[in-house]
Amino acid sequence: MNKRYSGFAFEENFLPRLSSVDIEHLSKEDALVILPIGAVEQHGPHLPVYTDTLIAEGLLEEAMLQLQHENIWVLPAIPYGKSNEHLGLSGTMSLSASTLQAVVMDLAISVCKSGFKKLLLFNTHGGNHDLLNMMAREIRIETGLMVFRLNPGFEAVNRLISQQEQRFGIHGGEVETSLIMELKGDWVQFDKSPTEFVNLSNNHHLHLKGNSYFAWVMNDISNTGIAGDARQATKEKGKMMKELIVSELVKTLKEMKHFSLGDLKKDYVNK
Ligand SMILES: [Zn+2]
Repeated sequence: MNKRYSGFAFEENFLPRLSSVDIEHLSKEDALVILPIGAVEQHGPHLPVYTDTLIAEGLLEEAMLQLQHENIWVLPAIPYGKSNEHLGLSGTMSLSASTLQAVVMDLAISVCKSGFKKLLLFNTHGGNHDLLNMMAREIRIETGLMVFRLNPGFEAVNRLISQQEQRFGIHGGEVETSLIMELKGDWVQFDKSPTEFVNLSNNHHLHLKGNSYFAWVMNDISNTGIAGDARQATKEKGKMMKELIVSELVKTLKEMKHFSLGDLKKDYVNK
């Protein structure tokens, strides 16, 4: 028996588990379809290159346990992302920006043609972020779907990690390592965990992400392929982080499901 698709989320909320007729008869008005998008890319010497996609599936699986009978449906993850900032580091399998845009648009059009009204682009790889923000609006314009974009809220775990990790721990550090120890511990080689923080000590206004940003590839900012302190990671922290992130995620998914664009212009005063 194929164990890959077992467990509650796959039995109850995995859209391709249903037949075409089942899907035709789903109530579409309040259904939310989730398209997870991850990455296959180097995450240092200690984590599998599948880290981001494992995190996407692991968090959604857990969230679905708390969203029974909510008419929320998960599509198979797009396992590859736009990872060209890691190209050349072994094991990175990247799509180009234009390819990922085309794949996401094709799937969004398919979701629309199946009769659904709401689509969530669920992203766990930083390198996909800007592209998916742009695509969310493009899909809205092209298909009329209501489109959401969500990166699971890693800020929910800030109280568990140092300020340095919060600011610079963006890849393969304490958070991602702890999460994979919890979600797929056998795939972590913890004894090889590095610590490396980018040196921005002379720059107080420039950041790796955010409003004042400089373009970088991984080789510009890291010797080890990571940014953060993976040695602080533990399975226990991973479990707590997963619970904190999922608790926020569940609330956000419920809000998306009940969200209506039609409500947005109600506070109008005709002067
Ligand atoms: Zn990652």
